[in-house]
Amino acid sequence: MKSITALYPLLSTPQNVVITMHQKPDPDAMGSSLALAGLLQQLGHEVTVISPTNWPGFLNWMEGCKMVIDYEYRKDLAEAALQKASWLFCLDFNTLPRTKHMAATLQQLNCVKILIDHHQQPEETAFTYGISNPAKSSTCEMVYDFITETGNGHLITLGMAESLYAGLIGDTGSFRFPAATAAVHKMAAHLKEVAGFNHTQVHDHIYDNFLENRLRFIGHVLTNRMEVLYEYNTAIIAVTKADLLRYDIKTGDTEGLVNYPLTIQGIKMAAIVIDRDEERKWSFRSKGNVDVNTFARKYFNGGGHFNASGGRSLETLQKNVELFKQALKENQTLFQ
Ligand code: 5GP
Ligand code: MN
Repeated sequence: MKSITALYPLLSTPQNVVITMHQKPDPDAMGSSLALAGLLQQLGHEVTVISPTNWPGFLNWMEGCKMVIDYEYRKDLAEAALQKASWLFCLDFNTLPRTKHMAATLQQLNCVKILIDHHQQPEETAFTYGISNPAKSSTCEMVYDFITETGNGHLITLGMAESLYAGLIGDTGSFRFPAATAAVHKMAAHLKEVAGFNHTQVHDHIYDNFLENRLRFIGHVLTNRMEVLYEYNTAIIAVTKADLLRYDIKTGDTEGLVNYPLTIQGIKMAAIVIDRDEERKWSFRSKGNVDVNTFARKYFNGGGHFNASGGRSLETLQKNVELFKQALKENQTLFQ
């Protein structure tokens, strides 16, 4: 993978660009993709944004979101765009399997592939150009750097600023995680200065935009599905398929649920496993020196960041919980 700076001089030649992100995109994945699309369109490129799957409804307000193709829903359109792409940007993921059913096509494409991402252990050989920096708060921060370093800061529109800001607050927990550096705060200030957007409204779109059933679901899950394992300073939540059906839970409704147990005194690691149709999906969060990236990689075919990661398994929900407890036992010292 060559440095992304080697791409900068090529930006002035119009390309057929596809921008894609990880499956079930969050504010960072969608926000960075749409902001980059906003820049590249202004530079004269033909741009298509593809999501490997559907996305939470609380992202629909983002400028350009209505034009995003859901690969699972409109595979015909997505494949056509991919086959004619000269450049493919991969944002907020670093291994092709994170694009689910799209991965095989991406693997075979011969176009220029460009990575912009902040997760650990990138699959560097899969990309032509790129930047991978786990020290960065978010892919939105990296796209902002890309825009300003290429001398295009003046092209940040109101819509782009809102999208970038959404990803920034999503991945920094509204500026509370350690990755919210001085540079991150300066970026937020700059976005306010150039675009003058309403940051309260962005926050409302993402965090205060659910239906009653989602809150009832959270109450149910925290009361009946959470187990606190004080001996490991850990809590686990296991959500059944019946829970999802009973409360009519949609994509995005479970986002953030994993963070609740970390508010309990002394809890250093929180895990949630959800019984999805095709697989059991894990999310892990931790505080301080508990490395959940390595944990997710080792036990649940996943990865991510040091303090926030995810994984998956084809075993039953119950078996997953057993495997998790076994893994805790094997790593007792990690959680002390
Ligand atoms: P979440 O729990 O919000 O789905 O994901 C937390 C972090 O871990 C995100 O940065 C996400 O991209 C990453 N992540 C989630 N699931 C997986 C997975 O199955 N594999 C890998 N490599 N990363 C994941
Ligand atoms: Mn991210």
